Amino acid sequence: MKIRIAEHCGFCSGVRNAVELAGAALEKYGRVAVTGDLVHNKVVMDRLKQNGLVFVKDLEDVGEMPLLLRAHGTNAALVYTAREMGIDLIDGTCPLVKKIHDHALELESEGRQVIVIGDRDHDEVQGIVSRLHDYCVVQNAGELKGRKIKRRTGVVVQSTQLFDNVREIVSGILTISRDCRIINTICEPTRRNQEEVRELAMQNDGMLIIGDPASANSKRLFTVSRSLNRNSHMVAEKADIDASWFRNCESLGITAGASTPGDRIIDIVDYIKTLNGDRK
Ligand code: SF4
Repeated sequence: MKIRIAEHCGFCSGVRNAVELAGAALEKYGRVAVTGDLVHNKVVMDRLKQNGLVFVKDLEDVGEMPLLLRAHGTNAALVYTAREMGIDLIDGTCPLVKKIHDHALELESEGRQVIVIGDRDHDEVQGIVSRLHDYCVVQNAGELKGRKIKRRTGVVVQSTQLFDNVREIVSGILTISRDCRIINTICEPTRRNQEEVRELAMQNDGMLIIGDPASANSKRLFTVSRSLNRNSHMVAEKADIDASWFRNCESLGITAGASTPGDRIIDIVDYIKTLNGDRK
């Protein structure tokens, strides 16, 4: 069985930067606070916690530790309060997420209602809307029914959204809003990963997506893959793999979500090779 691995699978630039920043901060301070998953991957989080990363629910619990802001952005009110409390902040926010904040504010300053296309409960979307006054979050085209969409609108998109979902929602918005400015803020690593998974899914007999069940972008890669190749599977670790999935495959495509660490990918690829493969 030939194994084809996506060229850009695994950590995106934003996640790599946040994890490296956390490592450097832990070396310097010993203990560093974070208000939720720095990245959506249990292996990565467990390693950081072992090295002194402390999960806090409340800013009151931060104490003398510095607070690391997460890759996908943080609620603006929380950042403001932390500053007021004199907490040292280490900013791990991905620059591409900051750009979305800037675009959203720019659209609002033009007097537009800001429509954020994304998962309502995701940290990134929460972080974007926390900076706005007049906004509306839309997860899918069906949600547009009955929503108060204004005539003058601006659109930004959660960085890891599926392009097809965005296209469908935008078409719906354009039937309601007469003056709409759309800024496609799907980030470049996401766009590239989605393109690669499409190609691999069409070119191979089977597909394996490596990612944590909590990782939205890994699940989206799986959704794209499954829509093109029924023999697609998502796993977090090698124990999740059922060898029978790929028994009749001549070729297998492999990719991984933006929060999957490289050693986890290597581990799984090595295991797949023992099932009968040689890497191409
Ligand atoms: S997925 Fe994109 S926006 Fe999110 S952290 Fe990675 S590079 Fe940044």
